[in-house]
Amino acid sequence: MGIMKNRVGWPLLAALWCGPAAAGEAPVAIAVHGGAGTILRSELDAETEQAVRAALERAARAGHDVLTKGGASLDAVQAAVLVLEDSPLFNAGKGAVFNHDGVNELDAAIMDGASLNAGAVAGLTRVRNPILAARRVMEASPHVLLFGAGAEAFAVEQGVTLVEPEYFYTEKRWQQLQRARAREGATLGLNAGADRVFSTVGAVALDGDGNLAAATSTGGQTTNRFGRVGDVPVIGAGTYADNQSCAVSATGHGEYFIRSVVAHDICALVAYRDLSLAEAADAVVMKKLVERGGRGGVIAVDRRGNIAMPFNTEGMYRAAIRPDGRLAVAIYGDGDPSHNLD
Ligand code: ASP
Repeated sequence: MGIMKNRVGWPLLAALWCGPAAAGEAPVAIAVHGGAGTILRSELDAETEQAVRAALERAARAGHDVLTKGGASLDAVQAAVLVLEDSPLFNAGKGAVFNHDGVNELDAAIMDGASLNAGAVAGLTRVRNPILAARRVMEASPHVLLFGAGAEAFAVEQGVTLVEPEYFYTEKRWQQLQRARAREGATLGLNAGADRVFSTVGAVALDGDGNLAAATSTGGQTTNRFGRVGDVPVIGAGTYADNQSCAVSATGHGEYFIRSVVAHDICALVAYRDLSLAEAADAVVMKKLVERGGRGGVIAVDRRGNIAMPFNTEGMYRAAIRPDGRLAVAIYGDGDPSHNLD
């Protein structure tokens, strides 16, 4: 089917009206992603693609509803990530990949751009929605990052819902693990190269009070072993928000994102070099990361509601609702070289 493309190549069919901020009101905006690591056109059948697009739209709308009712960006990113964590289609919450030992290990982080407060959790196996645990770490503890059994004990104290580990089982992820193990050979699970299965979900938002927030949640990588933790719960690497610059949620090969401190680097370029959000995100994702061999992408929003969504992989599941109320949902590059919305 020949789908008409708009200026930046987004399918017009996906551009739907969600209602802009009323005249004179401060802009609100939200972007979500469902990962960048595992998408090959050849492997995504039409039915799954439809389901993925619908889930991304649901997530974006869940966050946007919070914003248009005057809610906080923190609540908006949380609402969006909850939708994606509860969907078996994405590598976070239900649908998380199995680590090398056949366990679903979950990481998440959330950051408030107004206060620079942040909360993160890593290595959870029983928390149904890790983003809720991360939020409690941020708001009810003096800490930033809690790990494993201790993090789960804290989550229980805070009334966060636990599930049996079987809740996270999906046949698709189990089969992915079997294939990854079979291909692992002599790599000891530390580097399965192109066979590595990774992905993540995330959201960034600007609310009507001018506050930015970012949230990210993941099951890590299928080859996670030896307690490996990726970039998602590392504040500044996979997740960052600062009202003075921007909010960023990343997805990709975590080791590269940690070493390049990707999310903070983008915000620093906006703050110190006065680059536009799109320029800063492109400089890090399309140039710096590419030169260093790091594959993945980010979603980012600034305090004017500009949205950037660059990725250097074949695709990144993503959706956004801009200040003018337009919704866009996309998976591949769709002909747009920088994959940005503005
Ligand atoms: N960044 C995550 C990790 O390395 C995975 C991903 O986003 O694809 O654990």
